[in-house]
Amino acid sequence: MKILDGKKLSQKIKEEVKKEVEELKKKGITPGLAVILVGNDPASHTYVSMKNKACKETGIYSVVHEFPESISEKELLSTIDMINENPNIHGLLIQLPLPKHIDTTKILERVSPNKDVDGFHPYNMGRLVEGLDTFAPCTPLGVMELFKEYNIDLKGKDVCVVGASNIVGKPMWALLVNAWATVDICHIETRDLAAHTKRADIVIVGVGKPNLITADMVKDGVIVVDIGINKVNGKIVGDVDFENVSKKASYITPVPGGVGPMTIAMLLKNTIKAAKKMLK
Ligand code: NAD
Repeated sequence: MKILDGKKLSQKIKEEVKKEVEELKKKGITPGLAVILVGNDPASHTYVSMKNKACKETGIYSVVHEFPESISEKELLSTIDMINENPNIHGLLIQLPLPKHIDTTKILERVSPNKDVDGFHPYNMGRLVEGLDTFAPCTPLGVMELFKEYNIDLKGKDVCVVGASNIVGKPMWALLVNAWATVDICHIETRDLAAHTKRADIVIVGVGKPNLITADMVKDGVIVVDIGINKVNGKIVGDVDFENVSKKASYITPVPGGVGPMTIAMLLKNTIKAAKKMLK
């Protein structure tokens, strides 16, 4: 069994990003990322500070616009308009989830597709499905980067994606299909999850349920990517029973240290990509 080491790969990517930032600065462009953070959700605050720290480490300018839970949709929309117009900011992300009184789709659709470094705008999502150049969401993009690093060929492979959200499972499906994998996508209404996972060469799970994937649900030699993040007794775990599944797997991601750091690395890469648009 080999570990798909996202922590190590993300460090390597950060070094590459650092060099690209230096090159861009020589051309008079400092890549800039703005983050909108609403409310007091502790996990959201942790993610935003991790993203901010990664920007600082690599020389990307970053600014966080923090708002109380009570902010109106109108105020949020006008902040987005202001950032869309700001020539010093190349990437804008809205940390999710937003409070219930705010229409998340409306907010995400207001972000300029050219600054949409999270890849959540339907325009970019559509381009992703069509296999066109776009901003792909950072988490599934990070998974693809892990496959590339470990020379895991996807062509013709049977892949089972468990979880079908707009930010994880669906874009994961699109990236895999465009890489010529045969993809099964499962969700809460899937009748017999094990029947799908058992026949897969690669199982990718992003649900948010500890121990959802157990050893009896996968075949020998399977490649397992665990996107899930759960807190159990103060410890961060994924959706996979790592101890037992790893005994059958040829490759597996740990949690933490697998997909998480890759997500942040891809955000940095997407921000560089957005800044480079200024050169065209
Ligand atoms: P979500 O709640 O939006 O979606 C969960 C998906 O899982 C849905 O499609 C749902 O139908 C499916 N599902 C729920 N129960 C299921 C079951 N028993 N069997 C099969 N499918 C089931 O969540 P999300 O935002 O997509 O996040 C999923 C997980 O990934 C969470 O643990 C989240 O913290 C984690 N996550 C990690 C990263 C990272 O960087 N590692 C990034 C984003 C999300």
